[in-house]
Amino acid sequence: MIQNKILKKIKEYDTIIIHGHIRPDGDCLGSQLGLKSIIKNTYKNKNVYVVGGKSEYLSFLGDVDQIDDQAFEGALSIIVDTANLDRVSDQRYNLSKEIIKIDHHIPVEDYGNYAWVGQVSSASEMVASLLLDFPKLKIDEAGATALYTGMVTDTGRFRFSGVNSNTMKTAGMLIDKGANPSEIDGYLSKESLNVIRLKGYVLSNFKMTKEGFAYATISKDIKEQFMVSDEDASSMVSVIGNIEGFPVWALFIEYDNEIRIRLRSNGPKIDQLANKYNGGGHALASGASIASFDDVEVFALDVDDLLKEWKK
Ligand code: AMP
Repeated sequence: MIQNKILKKIKEYDTIIIHGHIRPDGDCLGSQLGLKSIIKNTYKNKNVYVVGGKSEYLSFLGDVDQIDDQAFEGALSIIVDTANLDRVSDQRYNLSKEIIKIDHHIPVEDYGNYAWVGQVSSASEMVASLLLDFPKLKIDEAGATALYTGMVTDTGRFRFSGVNSNTMKTAGMLIDKGANPSEIDGYLSKESLNVIRLKGYVLSNFKMTKEGFAYATISKDIKEQFMVSDEDASSMVSVIGNIEGFPVWALFIEYDNEIRIRLRSNGPKIDQLANKYNGGGHALASGASIASFDDVEVFALDVDDLLKEWKK
């Protein structure tokens, strides 16, 4: 089992640095901080760091570490929840001695000296499953909270396909270790007035294609006008989801140098379409990007082709 090898490697190294992906979501930070907690609580004398970006709405999970280049010398880098190397947050894994990949996305790139890639609903579930498979491993309440949060966010609160009895068993175990579901939901469900107003804007302005693609665009101007963060804007993807007759939906969000697409489906698989637009992810939830809003129409035509094919 690859998990044995990974634990052997963790035992072997004094310094372990845990990376995630750019613009980290709940599963990314959850699996990073949860893995740190497992290593720290099981092996007392190791230096364990979580590096990369953070997200305001996940600040209740704790902080990432600031470390200098020297820390990477002779270290083990573990990259979680990230399918391809160019999306790794903190590219200094290059300075480490060895790299381990732990991920649950459809593979787009083989990397790392060891890779554990599972068809599991979240990377946090994979990390948490170590506690079930290796009872000597320990975790504290903050670690259990981080992993539970990762599971909740990546499964749409245990609603998405991929959720199975193992998911629930693992979540139950994390509750036993101190994760508090209602408290976590309280943090995740809080919405500012500005976000509610942005929701109204998205609901009033989203567009629809003939074949059943619903999409909304959020420009930098709109983010400014509504005084919302990039993460707030990103959260709007669910607002136009699951509308009857619209099995594919997307949000196009403007950043400094690109338009990020958050693409979702409850019909056809959309990961290959995402691959075509510099992205990837899961069969029914992917991310991608285009250069400007001028390309939205071309993208919408591609989605319509996909929908036509799917309906045949
Ligand atoms: P998002 O819309 O950003 O929530 O992304 C949906 C899923 O696709 C997540 O699991 C992401 O980690 C993954 N994803 C997003 N963007 C990319 C990308 N450019 N390449 C590969 N996977 C991605």
